Amino acid sequence: MVERYSMGSMSVRDRLFRAIGSIDVFEDLPLSGMTTFRIGGPADFVISPENVEELSQAIQVLRDCEIPYIVLGRGSNILASDEGFRGAVIRLSTNYFQRIQVEDDHITAEAGVTLTALSKAARRNGLTGLEFASGIPGSLGGGIYMNAGAYGGELKDVIESVTVIDLFGNQMVLSPEDMEFGTRSSILQKKSWTVIRATIRLTHGDPDAIEAKMNDLAQQRKSKQPLELPSAGSVFKRPQGYFAGALIEQAGLKGYRIGGAEVSAKHAGFIVNRGGATCADVIELIHHIQKTVMEQFHVRLTPEIKYLSPDGWDLI
Ligand SMILES: Cc1cc2nc3c(=O)[nH]c(=O)nc-3n(C[C@H](O)[C@H](O)[C@H](O)COP(=O)(O)OP(=O)(O)OC[C@H]3O[C@@H](n4cnc5c(N)ncnc54)[C@H](O)[C@@H]3O)c2cc1C
Repeated sequence: MVERYSMGSMSVRDRLFRAIGSIDVFEDLPLSGMTTFRIGGPADFVISPENVEELSQAIQVLRDCEIPYIVLGRGSNILASDEGFRGAVIRLSTNYFQRIQVEDDHITAEAGVTLTALSKAARRNGLTGLEFASGIPGSLGGGIYMNAGAYGGELKDVIESVTVIDLFGNQMVLSPEDMEFGTRSSILQKKSWTVIRATIRLTHGDPDAIEAKMNDLAQQRKSKQPLELPSAGSVFKRPQGYFAGALIEQAGLKGYRIGGAEVSAKHAGFIVNRGGATCADVIELIHHIQKTVMEQFHVRLTPEIKYLSPDGWDLI
């Protein structure tokens, strides 16, 4: 039971139960189990709505009870605080929000679908253009929020429309222009909108060639990235004219460790959790990297990963 909401606790929980069913409402669930970094203390509530109606009702309950919430996909771009989050986490990438519908050269998919599953659906249907995303370990919703990209492709290149729901349960269909996509950014980073589904437009292609490209990219990823250890992917955005990983390596920081957090010896752009890393370890390491790279190369490294503090999204 979440003590913090003592007076309202029963009613918040009961209202959430009523809105989305008790099976999908948890209290005090550690974020370490919901993030690829395997770091993070408990969130007061974790809820997994089954469909848009439940999502809308859950948002309404949280708004009425003045409980802050965040939306989580696969948690692959997140560093969560050791103290957890004082609010509710809405998870859209578990069992629900997983529908994929293919129509000619269009695919409409719900926000919880993983980018890997989406790329495989494209390949099965002989559609090319999404191979770049096959190894990105995020959901479609999180990918759109971040304008995820790799190997020369970005989601913005294939998005036709994005359907979001706002704080008041209104649905809106946004065009690529409305989305204001940038480098690892979108308008969603400025608004409290939740992606519920999106349509992408691809091109008909040869399934064997699509598969060969996906296999090749998977091989490249495996050889260059520390996929065998928990991480949140590239820690820093690419500074203009440089590569973050190369600067960090040239600064002699490969393998540098604070607590359980280590600059990957395989790819210096990643911080890996060598076991028992805390959020505080990772933040200290990030600051150390930023300071060292600034001193040596006069380049400012800005985090790409999102920091979830006990009070919500914050800067590292
Ligand atoms: C090993 C590894 C490799 C990676 N490689 C790449 C790569 O090549 N390219 C790349 O771009 N990224 C990469 N990443 C980072 C990450 O996978 C992407 O940023 C991904 O798009 C995040 O998706 P997610 O579902 O995990 O989002 P989360 O990490 O769960 O959330 C990220 C942000 O999106 C928001 N969000 C999530 N779902 C929704 C929704 N439905 N509606 C609104 N907002 C939402 C969250 O609130 C949060 O602010 C990598 C990560 C790892 C661990």
